[in-house]
Amino acid sequence: MLAIRHLTKVYPNGFKALDDLNLEVESGEFLVIIGLSGSGKSTLLRCINRLIEPTEGQVLLDGVDITAAAPAELRRIRRDIAMIFQQFNLVKRSSVSTNVLCGRLGYARTLPSLIGLWPTADKARAAASLELVGLSDKARSRADALSGGQQQRVGIARALMQEPKLLLADEPVASLDPATSHGVLDYLRDLNRERGMTVLCSLHFLSLAREYASRVIALKDGRLMFDGRPEAIDAARFREIYGEDAVEVEIR
Ligand code: ADP
Repeated sequence: MLAIRHLTKVYPNGFKALDDLNLEVESGEFLVIIGLSGSGKSTLLRCINRLIEPTEGQVLLDGVDITAAAPAELRRIRRDIAMIFQQFNLVKRSSVSTNVLCGRLGYARTLPSLIGLWPTADKARAAASLELVGLSDKARSRADALSGGQQQRVGIARALMQEPKLLLADEPVASLDPATSHGVLDYLRDLNRERGMTVLCSLHFLSLAREYASRVIALKDGRLMFDGRPEAIDAARFREIYGEDAVEVEIR
């Protein structure tokens, strides 16, 4: 479904954050990306939908080259790729339901939606998405009145509005406590298992990766240094990925 070929990202200051990365992702996988802070996880996820422009290489979604797409085609492709973020990226002063409806912007006519005129079908879809993440009763609340875990569930509901094939999740639980983290990841797992949505998710904690991933990749200095089943990460692999003293990533 997703093919990443020779992907390289050099930031304007000359720093190489991704170095000739190759990866194939099958439809239906729950692929977790691990690695130390700064290893390139976020850069990889953002190169896939071109929030960050890759320097070299290709990203293909169902055979379509995202990296070569002109603006109109990129807009179409991006409907199939939703993203959720560590800091949720909600419009804080807007209502929960408006935030969720914004997930439809890739389909909607911009002007009517700017003044809150959304198609009835989209409103129904937003209500269904909020129900799915257990937040129907919060639809009218301001986004910033919700707890962190609830805000991330709004992020998931917003992503669902795109009806994406692929969900990119950039450290989606890094700002949440352990119990809430499980709550959020359980929703992602349900979407993966029940709706067949392919998930690419970066996680800091190896224990969470072990629990949720069907496959794990590890990055180090922008290179792929592990690709396999989570249970194959033994103590030696762990030290290779995280270094000798990165004990805290095991907790949770
Ligand atoms: P991770 O998500 O694994 O923490 P990132 O992809 O955010 O890693 O960053 C990878 C490396 O690229 C880090 O060393 C980071 O400092 C660097 N980096 C990220 N963004 C920029 C940028 N805009 N300019 C220069 N270097 C950057």
